[in-house]
Amino acid sequence: MTDQHIHTAFSCDSEAKMEDYILEAKKKGIETICFTDHVDMNPDDYGYGYYDAEAFWERFRAVKNKADDSVEVLAGFEFGEPHLYQERLAELSNYPYDLIIGSIHWIGELFPCQQVREKYSAKEFYTMYWQEVLKTVQAGGFDVLGHIDFPKRYYGEIYYTEAVIKEIFSTLLEKEIVLEINTSSLRKGHEQTMPGKELLEIYRENGGKYVTIGSDAHIVEDIGADDRSAKQLVEDVGLQEVVYRQRKRVTLANPTIRLPDDF
Ligand SMILES: [Zn+2]
Ligand SMILES: [Zn+2]
Repeated sequence: MTDQHIHTAFSCDSEAKMEDYILEAKKKGIETICFTDHVDMNPDDYGYGYYDAEAFWERFRAVKNKADDSVEVLAGFEFGEPHLYQERLAELSNYPYDLIIGSIHWIGELFPCQQVREKYSAKEFYTMYWQEVLKTVQAGGFDVLGHIDFPKRYYGEIYYTEAVIKEIFSTLLEKEIVLEINTSSLRKGHEQTMPGKELLEIYRENGGKYVTIGSDAHIVEDIGADDRSAKQLVEDVGLQEVVYRQRKRVTLANPTIRLPDDF
């Protein structure tokens, strides 16, 4: 089991401690976890300016030094709207992070809250949203694209045209950015992960091979949530799960491969 999308108290919307996540991971048999706190540069986001990289690293190193090696503990962050803040992204990239997730939460001043949903239909909102995703993937500077169909968590539905999705996926491949399967939507009562099977199939048909799996936990109990359903999905669609270490993609060994008898 792995979980490569976890928020700690270094995110404005979490109070969870790193050491408690590690204990919980051990309990659940999760082998690899990566802390990916929010870095938000949009002044409208209430986490604006909250992230403190120096403090994160100080704490991370202390916690890692104390932990035994039964759980692999990695460091990352989730950067909102990377295309708009490339300078800050480059600055943070100087730290020895294992993984950078790029996510679109905002379209300018618009977040898919109720007010915005009353004003824009799903089709209208998604049409703007995909352009923002495309721009961020074109700009790059990160390893994994977080929750690609994020508005689904709020609108409860998805709208896209094949043309725009294909353009996003071909740019992802070109930039060697991997797609994340984010399971948080399942905890919010939705039937599908972000993305669901439909988009994952288009991803594969267009040459996509790899995915990461993340719970987007903000509380300790949620670490590793629905990892099994996500893994099943990866297998059903014919993709492969990867882990990022020092920003390098590592393919997880296929657990079903057995060694020959005379090994
Ligand atoms: Zn996010
Ligand atoms: Zn997140």
